[in-house]
Amino acid sequence: MKIEPKITPIYQTSVFKFDDLNELEQYFGEPGSRYLYSRNGNPNSDELAEAVNKLEGGAGAVATGSGMAAIFAAILACCQAGDHVLCAADIYGGSSSLLNTELSRLGITVTYVPFEQLYELTDFVQPNTKLLLAETISNPLLRVADLRRLATECHRHGLKLVVDNTFASPVITRPLELGADISLHSVTKYISGHSDVTAGVAVAADEQTAARLKQIGVLYGLTLSPMESWLAVRGLKTLRLRMREHSHNALAVAEFLAQHPKVRQVYYPGLLDHPQHMLAMEQGAGLFGGMMSILLEDDAEVVNEFMRRSQRFPFAPSLAGVDSSLSYPLGTSHRYLTPEQQQGLGITVGLVRLSVGIEPIVDLLADLEHALD
Ligand SMILES: *Cc1c(COP(=O)(O)O)cnc(C)c1O
Repeated sequence: MKIEPKITPIYQTSVFKFDDLNELEQYFGEPGSRYLYSRNGNPNSDELAEAVNKLEGGAGAVATGSGMAAIFAAILACCQAGDHVLCAADIYGGSSSLLNTELSRLGITVTYVPFEQLYELTDFVQPNTKLLLAETISNPLLRVADLRRLATECHRHGLKLVVDNTFASPVITRPLELGADISLHSVTKYISGHSDVTAGVAVAADEQTAARLKQIGVLYGLTLSPMESWLAVRGLKTLRLRMREHSHNALAVAEFLAQHPKVRQVYYPGLLDHPQHMLAMEQGAGLFGGMMSILLEDDAEVVNEFMRRSQRFPFAPSLAGVDSSLSYPLGTSHRYLTPEQQQGLGITVGLVRLSVGIEPIVDLLADLEHALD
């Protein structure tokens, strides 16, 4: 009987069989010709890595058990004990915690660079600085980094540029084409897109770095399971459609909220008054994604009332699923910053982050109208 599945089945196996020693020799002699052990490689996780690699225009990628593992792999691919990294001050909370509390113990030090100074790194670079970590679109203020300028500035100082492209997705921005050396994702977010997977991926622009990423994945055991890989591949197939809908809905929500008397500020790159609107337009091919933040009155009771009244935006501290949700930066992602750091980043009591989904836009607008009433 001939079985030819249209899509890759789930290879839910930790190990693969060999008939004889010749096959074993073939495995080692012709890399990529067979599978041996799923931590080293599995058809499902390879399919995910290859699919994202293709979308990002990379030379190779590794799929990891989470976005955090992808960040860890990317930093380790470029650094060893004694090295120093630069990190954009507007960065995912997990990334700064990883650098501050774990990588520092391994002898890798960090300096944070304020958003305004990202394109002039001279004062921050040390002889042992190896890379800059930055996000295409930052959380929660949706600041957009000019990746071409950033890559030029990094390479002028001999640094690698590592971009966390989670908020943009490769549909909106492809960092490697703009000069970045590694582009990485929390696949948990837009790439899988349905809030049912925890995964990551790191993509390298050159083959040598890609090989390092894969080796780090294998030796640190950052591997992604077959089932999670399969779900992420399934989600990825609709990424382009979803990003269009997320962007379309978010722009309508942003325009609605920008004129609402209860909303003091809307942070969304698609709005004309966003400081990097033109850059976001060019770099994002006219799409701005589904993420935004809004500033309500700086009063916890006002925020509570908004959360309780909204039915379409449940509080769920993740993002980028097909169903809308909201998060609260001061109480979650940026909870452990000092009050000065929170103030400096504009993260105050009234700041709420929305992840706009792909529901009918009339439903979302009606819900927000009601929640703010
Ligand atoms: C969620 C997120 C991460 C971490 O990803 P996990 O899959 O939760 O490990 C990293 N960077 C950004 C921008 C994120 O939103």
